Amino acid sequence: MKMKYQTITMVLLLALVPGLAMADNALMEALGGKAAQKAMQDLGFEKGDANVLALTDAGHAIVDGQTSQAAIKGITNESGNSIGDGNLFRPLRAHWKPLWFYFFDKSTGEAVYLEANSEALSKSLDEFLDLPDDQVFSKISKANVDIEYLQNHTDEGNVTFNDKAFNGNEFGLVAMSNVWARGASYDFLQATAFHDHLCPGVTSGLHIAEFVEEKLPITNSSESYKVIACPQWCKDDLFQMRWDATPGKSGMFVMALTDAEKKAVPNVAGIYIRWNDTAKEGDALVLAYNFSAVDLPKWNGPSWGSMIYWDIALMPYEDNPEVFITVLKEFKVDAATLAQMQNAGMHPLKVAGVM
Ligand SMILES: [Zn+2]
Repeated sequence: MKMKYQTITMVLLLALVPGLAMADNALMEALGGKAAQKAMQDLGFEKGDANVLALTDAGHAIVDGQTSQAAIKGITNESGNSIGDGNLFRPLRAHWKPLWFYFFDKSTGEAVYLEANSEALSKSLDEFLDLPDDQVFSKISKANVDIEYLQNHTDEGNVTFNDKAFNGNEFGLVAMSNVWARGASYDFLQATAFHDHLCPGVTSGLHIAEFVEEKLPITNSSESYKVIACPQWCKDDLFQMRWDATPGKSGMFVMALTDAEKKAVPNVAGIYIRWNDTAKEGDALVLAYNFSAVDLPKWNGPSWGSMIYWDIALMPYEDNPEVFITVLKEFKVDAATLAQMQNAGMHPLKVAGVM
């Protein structure tokens, strides 16, 4: 009887809320909380455990017109994972992709993936709170994702990766978990989340960024970096986060090369310019990045492990990125040269004189 009275009060209250937006946010928050609760139960950890990483596309995914940022609040309230603690990241996804949650415990190597069931989100808050986990989530799977463990248990890895235990998100989530567990910096993981996944391409971006910052340091507020991403690869998403070098603000110009052009200038990675917007002049470096410059330890197991293993093998080189990098050319840039390198129809590598 008391329960019924509460429900009626809730319905009356919701009727007063414009557009039910608040009710939907409450539901999203409850969803994040339920994901965290289930993970805490399945992985056996307590609120605030520093060994646990949470990854989610909440805040990017939109379910039936409802944005999902409130789910992040639900996670933080329940498991304690937060941006401030550096143990919650939000890999970028298109808004129409499923809303998912992932928790990884570095002390055991185990992870749980939970995908929201959009049908459950159409319920009232009361109905939703009463739903069992297998109706709240369309997929719940648990696996050990530590790469050293998987090296000796490739059968388990085969199930996780080949049967898509995390609905196609395996590589991205597992790679991020492994480098997070091994002490990757917050800003690197943030750039990785923007890229959607961690691959050696993003790491090459970190190496190039550190090299450029050392060679051409920013010394005053008129200066910024401009990137002629020619050819583009995964590295270029890191510069957007780390340097705020976005295409929309003319911080980056992206151009592909043909195979023949790539052969003509082996390993060319682009042109990096420290631009002074007051003086209207800058310094440019044309760089090459050679992934094979160092003989890194190789993964001998099934193909799903090779990129993750490579990601980890590259981690120590943050301190000496120059082993992979060659300066093909260094030159001064004025406004006219910069415009030439940025314009469609011009070939930036020819303008720079390296092709
Ligand atoms: Zn990539």
